Amino acid sequence: MKHPKQIVIWVALCLLLFTACSKAEVFVTDEFYAMNTYITVRLPESDREHFAEIRTYLKELEGIFSRTDPNSEIFRLNHAPSAEVSKECADVLERSLRSAADTCGAFNPCLGALSSLWDVTGKKYIPTDAELAATLPLCAPNGYTVSGQSVVKEKAETELDLGAVVKGYAAGELLELLKNDGVTDALINLGGNVAVLGHAPGRSDGWSVGIKNPFDPESLAASLVCTDTVLAVSGDYERYFECDGVRYHHIFDGSTGKPSASDIKSCAVLCSDGFTADMLSTALFVMGSEKAYAFYKSGTYSFEAIFFTADGSILLTDGLCGKVTLLSGSTDALGEPLRFGAWEYAEDNAENT
Ligand code: AMP
Ligand code: MG
Repeated sequence: MKHPKQIVIWVALCLLLFTACSKAEVFVTDEFYAMNTYITVRLPESDREHFAEIRTYLKELEGIFSRTDPNSEIFRLNHAPSAEVSKECADVLERSLRSAADTCGAFNPCLGALSSLWDVTGKKYIPTDAELAATLPLCAPNGYTVSGQSVVKEKAETELDLGAVVKGYAAGELLELLKNDGVTDALINLGGNVAVLGHAPGRSDGWSVGIKNPFDPESLAASLVCTDTVLAVSGDYERYFECDGVRYHHIFDGSTGKPSASDIKSCAVLCSDGFTADMLSTALFVMGSEKAYAFYKSGTYSFEAIFFTADGSILLTDGLCGKVTLLSGSTDALGEPLRFGAWEYAEDNAENT
């Protein structure tokens, strides 16, 4: 038989454990505008001191990567034939050039002159064929040489546009920063690039993240539960203008100089690395679903993806089968999620009947 003192200690311990388990974690939210986008950060109340650190880091990144701030490193580089840059800038630029080679130019960080010509959110201009022909030679995806922190351009007029990777990169870096500081649960949303760590309040399996319906971006089409990862989404509804019933959006096909005309309306990529998730969401959008699936199968990068195609299909890569929930209220245009291989199965069946 246990000594009464021992029993008292056991009861006290059990009570302590019960209180710890039953006390719901309280999360707090910080919302602000930076890097040209709306940002939401959710942290446990006890970690709220990290809000300031996050804002400071994003300000630092703006000072490096902004295309419009005359004091930023990218602005200076875009207006000179060469420049000395910070180590962080050189690293991101090197990774971007490597990614351009890996994706055969589908992701192209050197098409700044093209983005400026179209100015999709500004003057909304449809360039002439002659203008496109004059601009495309400035957009070769390998127009820079990086040695240490020195960057030299092949053509002085070439301009960088790192808009397709900087937010995902920032989300991933912030996740690492929080992890190193001992934070175990967090959500950071940088304009559609969502980084999640640990789990949401009240659940033990991660965070439930919604994906917009590209046919009706005010509503969500699907959700999935994920943790310790970054989910990046690229869609033709994010930045665009319309003229004579045609949508001119902000994701360009570097081979034509025009908004990508692939079959994809939006593409969500899950990857443990934020830069890669964001880079791939843009690259796969440009590739189109068939090439994108072949690229997935090639194993060049480790990721999973969801594709919403113009005909209303939702296609999943192998690792997401059974893990994506379609939300009621999404438009009739969207069918049940299909596994990519479903095309092959359908053909096999057809031969047997
Ligand atoms: P995202 O929303 O991540 O797909 O990024 C789109 C942004 O990346 C655009 O607003 C442009 O600034 C830039 N961009 C457009 N097309 C490409 C491309 N093919 N490769 C790299 N960046 C691009
Ligand atoms: Mg991107």
